[in-house]
Amino acid sequence: MTGRATRSVALLGATGSIGTSARSVVRAHPARFRIVSMAAGRNLDAFLPAIAEHRPLVVSVAEKGDADRLRQEFPGLRVGWGEQGLVDVATLPEADVVLGGVVGSAGLRPAWEAARLGKDLALANKEALVVAGELVMAAARDSGASVIPVDSEHCALHQALRAGTAGEVDRLVLTASGGPFRSRPLETFPSITLADALAHPTWKMGQKITIDSATMMNKGLEVIEARWLFDVPGSRIGVVIHPQSIVHSMVEYVDGSVIAQMSPNDMRFPILYALTWPERIPAFLPRLDVTALGRLEFFPVEEARFPALRLAYAALEQGGTAPAALNAANEEAVAAFLAQRIPYSAIVDTVARVLDRHRSARLESIAQALDVDAWARREATEVIAAAAASPSPATASRGEA
Ligand code: MG
Repeated sequence: MTGRATRSVALLGATGSIGTSARSVVRAHPARFRIVSMAAGRNLDAFLPAIAEHRPLVVSVAEKGDADRLRQEFPGLRVGWGEQGLVDVATLPEADVVLGGVVGSAGLRPAWEAARLGKDLALANKEALVVAGELVMAAARDSGASVIPVDSEHCALHQALRAGTAGEVDRLVLTASGGPFRSRPLETFPSITLADALAHPTWKMGQKITIDSATMMNKGLEVIEARWLFDVPGSRIGVVIHPQSIVHSMVEYVDGSVIAQMSPNDMRFPILYALTWPERIPAFLPRLDVTALGRLEFFPVEEARFPALRLAYAALEQGGTAPAALNAANEEAVAAFLAQRIPYSAIVDTVARVLDRHRSARLESIAQALDVDAWARREATEVIAAAAASPSPATASRGEA
């Protein structure tokens, strides 16, 4: 077949880090892709020129006031807002594929509604799979939609898994850069500042994921994401530290062969892969010069340095609604840290306290997952308020309740 139809893309999170990279990919391949709908949050300064450039049919923003302003700026454009607006952008009949670059569990309902309608998902929003991966994957299976990960590690696994059958896979190995605190002396962790945590050594990303990378909760969420994407249990998913972020992940097969995927650390690679799969197309992206790399290093993860990773494995093992609680508590704790209301160490403490209080149940619906999400946010808010009120929270006395 030579005739390639233009793929119509619904882009969620258009002004964020993923959205900006996605627009760059679309701009470079105008015959292949067209953006037919776009959603953004509150950054109108960035969204206005994006709308003018891509001329989508439908857009959406977080707030009603911003939606009113867009209607004035672009007469005739269909403009929505809030959660329903996001769902309308994702489920537009003209859209073939939804590129979900929204941060947090807000990306769940649009992803699930689009998957139910048979739209392919190019999924950068890992939280959707953490909160309700079983349901999202089942919806895609039932409708015949494909779910192609944009998260760089999972995109690497997706590629490496093409080297063998599911039955031949022994385990998945996710790589982690180790973030800014990979070799910081542990005794100096109490003095970690917001600026320290935001200084990621290898990736330029949004603030939430940058903090998650510092705590390594990001890798924990990715273990859960991999479990649902590839139907491999957590006990067969490992994590290694790889500071150069060139090997994006690996698959170890039963015969001992390890297939790794490498590329420069630029999110346009996984975005292009997800939008063109099962094809590969000639791209304008920078090439990897392996002779310029010098060396690639790999280290085991120190548990004491990154306790968030153990929490994520524990939530995955509990199963059901536990990962939804883990994720929501983490989102609240990271927001509080970004607002400088809690210290760095309180992020993981908050998540641990909320998980302690959670009674995991079988996950049966998106509504239930979002109820647990809301519950965990309330609990986390309480824990954070208590911690903010007293400089040394009594974690020891309440942790085992
Ligand atoms: Mg990743």
